[in-house]
Amino acid sequence: MNVPRLSRMEASDERRLRVSFEFFPPKTAEMEQSLWESIGRLAPLQPNFVSVTYGAGGSTRERTHATVKRILGETLLTPAAHLTCVAATRTDVDAVIKAYAQAGVRHIVALRGDPVGGIGERYAPHPGGYRNAADLVAGIKRIADIEVSVSAYPEKHPDSPSIAADIDMLKAKVDAGATRAMTQFFFENSLYFRYLDRVSAAGIDIPIVPGILPVQNFKQTKNFAARAGASIPAWLAERFDGLDDDPATRKLIAAAVAAEQVIDLVDHGVTDFHFYTMNRADLVYAICHLLGLRPDHGAATQRQVEKERV
Ligand code: FAD
Repeated sequence: MNVPRLSRMEASDERRLRVSFEFFPPKTAEMEQSLWESIGRLAPLQPNFVSVTYGAGGSTRERTHATVKRILGETLLTPAAHLTCVAATRTDVDAVIKAYAQAGVRHIVALRGDPVGGIGERYAPHPGGYRNAADLVAGIKRIADIEVSVSAYPEKHPDSPSIAADIDMLKAKVDAGATRAMTQFFFENSLYFRYLDRVSAAGIDIPIVPGILPVQNFKQTKNFAARAGASIPAWLAERFDGLDDDPATRKLIAAAVAAEQVIDLVDHGVTDFHFYTMNRADLVYAICHLLGLRPDHGAATQRQVEKERV
């Protein structure tokens, strides 16, 4: 029997793979419960870290903080707190950074954030605030010894005049102390590989971790993509065509699409993946399983014992 594609992944690839999971802070008690069920399901896969987003304009400041603190207090996961510069003075943002440092958070995802008026409006830094993401990275590094990750845009950020300008901004963020970038989601791996070539030609050598968005809902993904400047290839639209009222088939197709994407990335040497979970575990868990990751409940228990001893 001729076993297709998957056979190209070697056992050694599986051992080297590292994943991170992105969640958003829940708004309601029901959302909170589903977030924690997802965290419970994904935690035994031992992600490198789990990140928690920061709502537009700092709207989730307290909820992001509470979620990150609960992850620290109740799990063995390493949380990364997202933070933006929008609509806040340096003093306000510095207070958030200090509170995280005090709570034991050792990883921040530093972002400029979207304009207060929404995507498409002109971005104006707060007069007393951090000017951009690079400025924020430098601010974090001045305050505490915290690992800083940043964003990257294989298809260009919608505000940016060119990919070259984007890469200049990425370089400024790295020069300020960022040590990892996670990309905006994309569906054509060739765009990511071309971007990596340009990043590397610019002398940037931090990991540029691909952001993977399993398509939980195609309509919603199309809306996200339009706002994020990510393209939706015709073949992707074709695969979800006619499935608007058929969630069960949509889920199978979504798993197949994401599996194909990550396996191709692995075949090209990619070892780290950042998953946009949308606070749901099932598709992400299945894709990680396919990548060879298995839950390790034993290691988790052992680490809990060690944590309690400290
Ligand atoms: P930056 O690195 O600051 O900029 C991206 C590009 O835009 C650069 O080329 C830069 O030069 C250009 N640019 C920036 N400002 C201007 C300007 N005024 N004029 C012209 N060009 C400009 N958003 C949230 O609100 N909360 C989150 O938790 C969050 N998490 C994210 C996580 C990841 C992994 C990614 C990829 C994005 C996330 N975002 C989040 C979205 C992000 O805040 C927006 O895309 C925002 O518009 C840009 O911030 P940035 O730090 O990503 O971009």
